[in-house]
Amino acid sequence: MLVDIHTYKQTDTGNPAVRNLTFSEAEKLFSSDRKGLFSVGVHPWFINEYSNETIENLRKWTKDERFFAIGECGLDKNVKTCLDQQILVFKEQIQLSEQFHKPLIIHCVGCFNELFDLKKELNPVQIWIIHGFRGKPELAKQALKAGCALSYGEHYNPESVRVTPLDKLFAETDESSQKIEEIYNQLASIKLCNVDELNAGYVLLKSLLNIL
Ligand SMILES: [Zn+2]
Repeated sequence: MLVDIHTYKQTDTGNPAVRNLTFSEAEKLFSSDRKGLFSVGVHPWFINEYSNETIENLRKWTKDERFFAIGECGLDKNVKTCLDQQILVFKEQIQLSEQFHKPLIIHCVGCFNELFDLKKELNPVQIWIIHGFRGKPELAKQALKAGCALSYGEHYNPESVRVTPLDKLFAETDESSQKIEEIYNQLASIKLCNVDELNAGYVLLKSLLNIL
């Protein structure tokens, strides 16, 4: 089982995938009987769409087992929304993540110190997965030391993959046209291991969903 921890595509490969939804997609999906695993959250790019209702919706959906992770959420220094506001919205989602035992899929651009400070301050139990990690190995080491896990997609620094332990290493297709199998194969060749040994996603799935 090659888990795709973050994708926008509907896949039919037989591998489990966590599909990221917009709020309107989530509204439809969680009131349907459609199978799958999904993530939904307030992305730092779309904080202007955020309201109390947004958080109430997230809270409502947390009861659904298909709601696997909260995200993308996080911090981005390239958006107009001030960082204080971004942190506020992120913290609301961290709280939901802890309360309802959902991992976080984190989008972080240029705000890693703030992210690590939050991790230290809040000391969460839930796993924080930084998605689409492209940072250098020094940053990867800092993130790992802070207790975060890293998810790699189409673009990454191979040295960072090398320093990421297998139990903190996830794979994703995100918006790429690459297949998850290709990404796993590349990561495995960097880690000098078998594709099956890259099983952080699978272990997480297993622990949260009681699957074999
Ligand atoms: Zn992102």
